[in-house]
Amino acid sequence: MMQGMTHKSDDEHMRDLCRFTARTLNTKQPSPFGALIVSTRNGKPLMRATNAVMREHDPSSHAELRTVRRACKRLKRTSLAGFTMYSTCEPCPMCMANALWARLDRVIYGATIADANRYCLQIQIPAAEVSRRSDMPCGVEGPLLRELCLSLFTHPSTQKAFLAWSTAKKTKTSLARKP
Ligand SMILES: [Zn+2]
Repeated sequence: MMQGMTHKSDDEHMRDLCRFTARTLNTKQPSPFGALIVSTRNGKPLMRATNAVMREHDPSSHAELRTVRRACKRLKRTSLAGFTMYSTCEPCPMCMANALWARLDRVIYGATIADANRYCLQIQIPAAEVSRRSDMPCGVEGPLLRELCLSLFTHPSTQKAFLAWSTAKKTKTSLARKP
């Protein structure tokens, strides 16, 4: 058993994050995407956020990017070395690159990019690949609690919300038009 203060497991952090992200399901702008940053050493939470692309009218307002941005602002520094990020979905290349620039120790994700791609347009570069090709060391682990994270995507509120997303997969025919 671990000595001293209780250190939550990766599973527990991911469950906390899913509960937090699920809170958006009862709002006007539900999102299945949430991220949480905790201390790698003792698991103490630093910051969490959900996707706010629609709310902020900002295509870069992904959950992971917003969480890193707010965490750095809180600490008044640009390095999150010593911290671990959990995400309900595998970070896109933009968010994974940002996690590397932020010097995060680890990134742990739930659903995969392929999972999200059933509902939203995605850029098909695995987060582990982005990390592997960078100079910054960052462990990328997942999928973790994939089914639980997927339930955020399949929830009726999310499915309804997707209809308004510019990145949602509307119909197969609209996608088929891409040359
Ligand atoms: Zn992203």
